[in-house]
Amino acid sequence: MVKGEQLYEGKAKKVFATDDPELLIVSYKDDATAFNGLKRGTIAGKGVINNKMSNALMKLLEKSGIPTHYVEEINDRDTIVKKVQIVPLEVIIRNITAGSFAKRYGVAEGIPMKSPTIEFSYKNDELGDPLINEYHALALELATKEEIETIKDYSFKVNEELKKFWASCGVTLVDFKLEFGRLSDGTIVLADEISPDTCRLWDSETGM
Ligand code: ATP
Repeated sequence: MVKGEQLYEGKAKKVFATDDPELLIVSYKDDATAFNGLKRGTIAGKGVINNKMSNALMKLLEKSGIPTHYVEEINDRDTIVKKVQIVPLEVIIRNITAGSFAKRYGVAEGIPMKSPTIEFSYKNDELGDPLINEYHALALELATKEEIETIKDYSFKVNEELKKFWASCGVTLVDFKLEFGRLSDGTIVLADEISPDTCRLWDSETGM
């Protein structure tokens, strides 16, 4: 597989073309950002951990019937993925109150929810990824009704699988972010990454 032209450099990864128009190589960086890029730094080895963790979790999810973009890990930082057109909706699933949810609704952090919640934000850096509902997403033609249903269905299944996996490691999955994309035939698959950068994980014993 030939690593071709760099197509994109994001905050956490670089994306390269390959000699196959249906495949890309993502390369995980050590760069860390916070507060929407206002705070920047590097964490040595972060890219390697995120690459390996994301790939392991994508493989686990594939086994439980959730289609993903994962193809093959080629080295510590680089992975071949199926090229998708990203659906510009970030999906956030929550199991326990924390972060912006606790702030927005004026509740304490750490309260287990009766059932998991889902929320979407419109993936648009200029607007600061605002919260959006399904009707707005449909009106803005960000996705079809069927695609949104598929995305919700997969997201809750991902939650069940990841909760089980992390619990077996003594870790509680508080909340996490997912991105989905369309393959060239329109099939919805899980894309981007699942890593400590996109999941809020607490030690099950200490709750920290
Ligand atoms: P943003 O998502 O706003 O670009 P970012 O700068 O944090 O944020 P990175 O994770 O650094 O993004 O870059 C990876 C980019 O590649 C993201 O834009 C992501 O949506 C996109 N991406 C992830 N998986 C795929 C895929 N399989 N095909 C095409 N694009 C992908």
